[in-house]
Amino acid sequence: MRPLIAGNWKMHGDMSWVEKPAAFEALMPATERKHLDILICPPSLFIAAMAASCHEANILLGAQNCHRAESGAHTGEVSAAMVKSAGAEFVIVGHSERRAGGETDENVATKAMAASKQGVTPIICVGENLDVREEGRAESVVTDQIKASVPAGVTDYVLAYEPIWAIGTGMTATADDIKAMHAVIRGLVGPKVRILYGGSVKPVNAKKILSTENVNGALIGGASLEMESLAAIARAA
Ligand code: PEP
Repeated sequence: MRPLIAGNWKMHGDMSWVEKPAAFEALMPATERKHLDILICPPSLFIAAMAASCHEANILLGAQNCHRAESGAHTGEVSAAMVKSAGAEFVIVGHSERRAGGETDENVATKAMAASKQGVTPIICVGENLDVREEGRAESVVTDQIKASVPAGVTDYVLAYEPIWAIGTGMTATADDIKAMHAVIRGLVGPKVRILYGGSVKPVNAKKILSTENVNGALIGGASLEMESLAAIARAA
């Protein structure tokens, strides 16, 4: 399956970051990455401004969130249609940092459905916290999240497994744990859905993680902010 290397810039950067796709292209030209997809998800304010630079660098563009509704009185929100019209083809939904703010599986499913209706591919995030992992319930909790977060009838989506305790902490799940969890996820999502691993993926651990069975790419936070480290991870895919 074609790997997807996805960068989540979170709330970082400014308008000068519009040039980063060109910097990535200089480090790793498109001719060297025909076998994989590179995706950058900047803050939504930058999406439209990055459409041209991403296109020129053969880099896909995504959003970090969208609203469930097509339009309406939702101050500060962006709809999937807006995301699409600004030039993005993907949208992250259900990131643990948003779930921590109260987003439920049901909210995630409605957002994923809204994205799908607009032809925007949702990247649906799931993952357990440390207590759940230590109690040995990680697989059942993630299974429940997937069942409730993937909307019925939507087949074009990406599933990102991100153990919460590994995000931004420098800790990563062991290769055996990733392999076991991704096997469970594969059983739930079927053979065609790309399953990403996320949680402190860095150049130093990328090869090991990306060569694990049923890992079809990575969702990368901190290491996606510098094009050197994003390119080094992409080279490992
Ligand atoms: C993320 O935000 O999805 C993430 C995985 O972050 P980091 O790579 O910094 O752990």
